[in-house]
Amino acid sequence: MIPISVVKLDEAAEELAVEVIRSGRLAQGPMVARLEQEFAALVGAEHAVAVNNGTTALVAALEVCDLRPGDEVVTSPFTFVATLNAILEAGATARFADIRDDDFCLDPEALAAAVGPRTRVVLPVHLYGQPADMAAIVPVVQRHGLGLVEDTAQSLGATVDGRGAGSFGLGTFSLYATKNLTTGEGGMITTNDATLADRLRVLRNQGMRQRYQYEVAGHNYRLTDLQAALGIPQLAGYGANVKRRKDNAAQLSAGLADLPGLRLPTERPGRSHVWHQYTVLVTADAAVSRDELVAKLTEQGVGCGVYYPRTVYDYDCYREHPRVVADPAPVAERVARQCLSLPVHHHLTDDEVQRVVEAVRTAVGG
Ligand SMILES: *Cc1c(COP(=O)(O)O)cnc(C)c1O
Repeated sequence: MIPISVVKLDEAAEELAVEVIRSGRLAQGPMVARLEQEFAALVGAEHAVAVNNGTTALVAALEVCDLRPGDEVVTSPFTFVATLNAILEAGATARFADIRDDDFCLDPEALAAAVGPRTRVVLPVHLYGQPADMAAIVPVVQRHGLGLVEDTAQSLGATVDGRGAGSFGLGTFSLYATKNLTTGEGGMITTNDATLADRLRVLRNQGMRQRYQYEVAGHNYRLTDLQAALGIPQLAGYGANVKRRKDNAAQLSAGLADLPGLRLPTERPGRSHVWHQYTVLVTADAAVSRDELVAKLTEQGVGCGVYYPRTVYDYDCYREHPRVVADPAPVAERVARQCLSLPVHHHLTDDEVQRVVEAVRTAVGG
């Protein structure tokens, strides 16, 4: 079986974890501070604040945007449910703007049309490893004086015109087990604003600056030193891992280039892709349906995934939710029916990549 994601930590991670265990400091401490510093440098942001997962990173980032009841956050309908749950947890109303099918991210024109008098924050999702079209999105945000929170959970290290995804506004990241860089569970918020970084540090620690000095009603969103120890060594090798993912994506694209009914992912001009997922669209011209292709690949031992089978609003619990505005997003709905992610991770061998190519070619009869 070729899995869609693999977690393998090296000896450096083992050694650092042992160091933490022997130190007796298992909760948040110097390892977290070190992870934050190195993470900020990788993203190209002034500050990074570690939290316990990517969802709480989103909640905390939204909370420092000072939302009031009735305020709306406009986001992508084609995302992991955490994006929506965080908006609701932060007390805001979620509204969606459709995506484009060439980058699977917010369509800047649809975004501009969705912004209204109650909009307070724009929340683009940098999906699959490629940033949204920030060159067109940031001007919309600025024109309306809105907040900007970037869901960068899948796109650590990606860039737009050389600038790191997650460094345009408040960047939020996930270090969950399947992400490009992982601490098992974990999250990070990046910002260039020292005041916001300070508020986030207080917020994650029960609203407490010094012991029993409470400034705001806060949370326990702390990451532990044991988790940070697993992440630090991965930062050093991150560039090499992304390069391996890029090579794998290029091999997949070369091998699958001429298959009818298969639309391959592309790196958009000015943007760099870190290939968290390699996602094709199985169109109506294909000899098999998307779901038949999933079944055939699974049968042949090739792991694949459908991220995501439905738009995020397309569930009863959100359709009926008073703070979810589910305007239709036809592009996202079609992409949800057509998308299929193939293994592209950095632990794949060249042989395995070729096996993925052959399995797809056989399945679609090419
Ligand atoms: C993984 C992910 C999250 C949430 O991260 P957790 O660490 O699992 O809480 C949020 N948004 C997107 C797009 C993700 O892929």
